[in-house]
Amino acid sequence: MIYTDPRLLSAGLVGGTLSRHEGNMRASEAQTPVYEKLSVPAQRILHFHQTHSTRIITIDSPEAAQQFQQLPLQEADAWLFTASGWGAAILTADCVPLFLWAQDGRAFALAHCGWRGVVNKLPLLTAQALRQKVGDTPLQAWLGPHIQSCCFEVQQDVAAQFSPANVLHKDGKLFVDLTGEIRQQLYAAGLKPDTIAAPYYCTCGDKANFFSWRRDHVKENLLSFIYKP
Ligand SMILES: [Zn+2]
Repeated sequence: MIYTDPRLLSAGLVGGTLSRHEGNMRASEAQTPVYEKLSVPAQRILHFHQTHSTRIITIDSPEAAQQFQQLPLQEADAWLFTASGWGAAILTADCVPLFLWAQDGRAFALAHCGWRGVVNKLPLLTAQALRQKVGDTPLQAWLGPHIQSCCFEVQQDVAAQFSPANVLHKDGKLFVDLTGEIRQQLYAAGLKPDTIAAPYYCTCGDKANFFSWRRDHVKENLLSFIYKP
């Protein structure tokens, strides 16, 4: 099944995060049947190698998309599109798939936000880059399934990198609320609270539906993608 936000469709976009029932998406062969099922052309979905960086790949035209596809696999952690007929994917297993788009669909973004990316402000940087492309058009955001504060226990050195409001203390342990941290950054980029949807799906706590690195320590990934026909 696919987890998604109906506002994506309203903006003329197709996208979401696939549950583990669709299989381990680490290999591109596993992805193709899923795209076929969703009537998305797999050859028009771009990929990169994720490194927990803050590098954003911007695709402004179909020509730019074609050129990108010819390059060796690039290292980056966020996508920004203003072109139609193309899209992109990321892989996660606890990290946050952050979907951002202009309400009219003229531009859209998808970021792979692990805790390092969040600390280094990838959500803020991606929202700001999107804002630059669309002027005053309202932005919307959806946070796909990721590890929630119920399971994201960290040590003091990691906790210290987050704002105290997003560090929970429970039974002498520390837990980080990535959702809260990302919300703060999106507010700083000018998004209104009611434009951000963040349903409480915990990849680590819900084994029936999600892969989780923290829980299983195996290389199994969920696919998130966004595409504009
Ligand atoms: Zn949990």
